[in-house]
Amino acid sequence: MDKGDSPPVNALPHELSVFGDAIAYFNEAADMLDLDAGMRALMTRPSRQIIVAVPFQRDNGQIEVLTGYRVQYNFMRGPAKGGVRFHPGVTLDEVTALAFWMTWKCAVVDLPFGGAKGGVTVDPQSLSHSELERVTRRYTAEIIEVIGPEKDVPAPDVGTTPQIMAWMMDTYAMHTRRNVPGVVTGKPIELGGSQGRVEATGRGVSIVGIDQLARMGIKSVGARVIVQGFGNVGSIAAQLFAEHGCIVVGISDVSGAYYNAKGLDISSALAHVHRTGSLAGFTGGDRVGQNELLEMPCEVLVPAALEKQITAENASRIKARLIVEGANGPTTPEADHILNEAGVIIIPDIYANAGGVTVSHLEWVQDRMGYFWPEAEVNQRLSDVMLKNYAHLQRVATEMKCTLRTAAYVLAIGRVKRVAEMRGVYA
Ligand code: NAD
Repeated sequence: MDKGDSPPVNALPHELSVFGDAIAYFNEAADMLDLDAGMRALMTRPSRQIIVAVPFQRDNGQIEVLTGYRVQYNFMRGPAKGGVRFHPGVTLDEVTALAFWMTWKCAVVDLPFGGAKGGVTVDPQSLSHSELERVTRRYTAEIIEVIGPEKDVPAPDVGTTPQIMAWMMDTYAMHTRRNVPGVVTGKPIELGGSQGRVEATGRGVSIVGIDQLARMGIKSVGARVIVQGFGNVGSIAAQLFAEHGCIVVGISDVSGAYYNAKGLDISSALAHVHRTGSLAGFTGGDRVGQNELLEMPCEVLVPAALEKQITAENASRIKARLIVEGANGPTTPEADHILNEAGVIIIPDIYANAGGVTVSHLEWVQDRMGYFWPEAEVNQRLSDVMLKNYAHLQRVATEMKCTLRTAAYVLAIGRVKRVAEMRGVYA
């Protein structure tokens, strides 16, 4: 399916879908902005949806054909930007939803990018290293006309890695006979990746979390933090909250949840995970139930694992005063309503976890300059971008008398609307 042939996004299935949640939040903000039907259609319809066959040869010589996607939602603010997912559950609907989300995430932190997402329906664990390389290169070749530093810039997502970005970059270079590192972000540092990129999402979560605590008059030194998910986002966020003097009292991963009212030693939890691959067997805290952990006493709760973790069922038992959404879509709209009524502040996913794409933008800038900043400079720029836009978000929430989530969509939609009006509709 290509441009002009796509169903209206509102027709996509919503049940159990985080996309349904994103559309609900979009519509609420669009109502507040009094967005007319034409502008809503322009913003909710993907610009281009591409489905490609990805044939590849197994190591034993057998040919198999996979399905790949790239959805480019919106180019109004700049080249499209978004990750590539390799997972058996990848569908056109899912990729479309994630591309829609990227549009607002890039706009809310004021990056000069539109939104995109891609994927291949495959379990990368089922492929050998060389099969994975062949799948990546063929997928890249199939979408090569629509990607590029001024068109659409892929990045890693679930199931894809810096090595996969290196293969994508090399395939692009072989086809175009030019070295173009800015065609993808999240590359290895040696190939034009940015310092600080790996830690950027968790760092962004801690930057806005600490800022919000100060706004609430809560001292970060001694504030109790619980982090669900101890992967890339959660473990870095936990470490940085602890470095700011917070007491991280709870952490969890897929293997279990751990609580210690006196504070967990995050460095030793990280060392344990590096040594053994998970938190299983960690002895620095008491083992508690996965769901129970979310309801333990704390000032800050950081869901950084999966979507739909805070629901109408458990929302009223959450004790945190501040929720910083490291994961995408961890709170359902029903739970969001319950928590808002209870006065819990929620820093929404499209803002809270935008640190990763912000440093992806810095990587793209450095690639295009051919000059690379030290990590401290990248971290400072990340902090400046997050805090400047957070102050803006707070002003919108105060002026419109709405939650930070609605304010984030209002800010993002307003920014896209302004450029759409300036550019006009090409005919
Ligand atoms: P990851 O795979 O590195 O870590 C996920 C963690 O969650 C792992 O520790 C895993 O064991 C844990 N987990 C899985 N199921 C769990 C469960 N039922 N209970 C508790 N823990 C569980 O992934 P990540 O990159 O840290 O991403 C986490 C979330 O953040 C996802 O929603 C992702 O979409 C979102 N996100 C990530 C980035 C990024 O740059 N990595 C950027 C934006 C958003």
